[in-house]
Amino acid sequence: MRCLLVRVGSKSYSLASYSKITGQMVRTSSSSLSNNPLVTDKAFIDGKWVEARNKVTFEVSDPATGDCLGNVPDMSASDTLKAIDAAKKAQRGWAATPLKERSGMLMRVKQLVDEHSEMLAEIMTLESGKPIAESRGEVKYGNSFFEWFAEEAKRIRGDILLHPIKRDSRYLIVRQPVGVAALITPWNFPLAMITRKAGAALAAGCSVVIKPAEDTPLTALAMAKIVEKAKLPSGVFNVVTCSRSNIEEVGDTLCKSKDVRKLSFTGSTAVGKHLYSLCSSTVKRISLELGGNAPFIVFNSADVDNAIAGAMSSKFRNTGQTCVSTNRIFVQSTIYDTFCSKLSEAVKKLKCGPGIDPTSSLGPLINNRAVIKVKEHVDDAVSRGASVKVGGAPATELGPNFFHPTLITDVPKDALVHRDETFGPMAAVTKFETEEEVIEMANSVDVGLAGYVYSSNAAQIFRVSEALQFGMVGVNEGIISSELAPFGGLKESGIGREGSIYGIEDYLDLKYINLNF
Ligand code: ADP
Repeated sequence: MRCLLVRVGSKSYSLASYSKITGQMVRTSSSSLSNNPLVTDKAFIDGKWVEARNKVTFEVSDPATGDCLGNVPDMSASDTLKAIDAAKKAQRGWAATPLKERSGMLMRVKQLVDEHSEMLAEIMTLESGKPIAESRGEVKYGNSFFEWFAEEAKRIRGDILLHPIKRDSRYLIVRQPVGVAALITPWNFPLAMITRKAGAALAAGCSVVIKPAEDTPLTALAMAKIVEKAKLPSGVFNVVTCSRSNIEEVGDTLCKSKDVRKLSFTGSTAVGKHLYSLCSSTVKRISLELGGNAPFIVFNSADVDNAIAGAMSSKFRNTGQTCVSTNRIFVQSTIYDTFCSKLSEAVKKLKCGPGIDPTSSLGPLINNRAVIKVKEHVDDAVSRGASVKVGGAPATELGPNFFHPTLITDVPKDALVHRDETFGPMAAVTKFETEEEVIEMANSVDVGLAGYVYSSNAAQIFRVSEALQFGMVGVNEGIISSELAPFGGLKESGIGREGSIYGIEDYLDLKYINLNF
């Protein structure tokens, strides 16, 4: 834990970024992460804090400064098998735990997350780069899944049917946990993607082996600390960490194991497809939450100010790095100029900086590859006739991973951004004339996660939201995710749903018992 943080009033900055921003020499105290009791350098298997078998570790760094935040075990196949074995041994006992007790333990996790929310938010901001206010929001959002599924655990039910012919016979239909679930999670929501999956899995009576993203393992391990404090039985919740160089080995082990009966993955479409095929060897249950390319459609009748607010939050939240982030903004011709000029004013107000600085509205991107991709999308659109209204370039003065908030307009429909997710702070606006034309453009992609429609015409709202081939549609609303609603996509955006009354079904098998008396 070598990163030095500078505290200024209630704010803290890494030394490197503070000096960069202020140009001042500063006296340093010790790193705040080194005083954060949820930070660890070990993985969590079978209720124990362990190193990799070969003792190798990898470094976790702050994308805002490049500072080292810590080192965690670089695990391989043998460590993964140990975690699967522990989860298998623990699963039956967990499934047999009386519902009220199981639900009570999950509620205890929820309470402990609340009590440690500031520590969790700090870890998340430092390892993912997300602005601190958003990390605080993610702790609340992520924790809503533990609360929700603690309640849902008590509502798992079956059916009894009369036999169609035999008077005394019955058909009994029960729901049973699938068994051990492997959860592979991304870096953009380091906490919520764990709680959304693990909350449902644990409530259903499954045990879990979590493989967090190599960029954000500290948040996952911090969650394991909380689970340990909540006294969940050993082996029910395991976290295996590994670097990108071991990921194939660890991923293969999880996907090909006969003892793992379910994989839930959130990440890129390419990796999701690869894991889907690996899981076929053992015919595993699978949930995939993959990429999107969200259309944001603004009709002439829309409340423009509300549409601007929605576009800003759905485009720039988490510096544009969410799978439901708006990627293509379509604006009808009559209001096009007004919309672009108001959006331009709003984008100019955004402030780029380290996430730990509470005045930053945009943090760094996760790495320099992400910066290069955003620049490629800008350059491609410009080469096809689009105009840069705001930003358009990396913010190298802040560090190699920052990109200026960007607005490009008059983006033609053959631009790269219309086929590929930017995953960065670039808003791309395209003009349209008719409803039919915009529905066709919106649906022209292979993915279908989230879409947004702004209109005040009720019939149009029904027509368009039903015609959009997306799993989730926000109508006059830019923030749509909630623990009450089913999260998931159509087409190549994935399989299965998370959260809501449906999320737990992904971790339950239906069994039919024919009772003949
Ligand atoms: P990104 O490119 O945004 O990092 P990925 O899909 O590569 O998205 O990563 C999402 C998660 O999938 C991370 O936890 C990552 O380590 C994991 N992952 C990447 N490649 C593989 C693989 N071949 N097998 C298993 N997990 C993988």
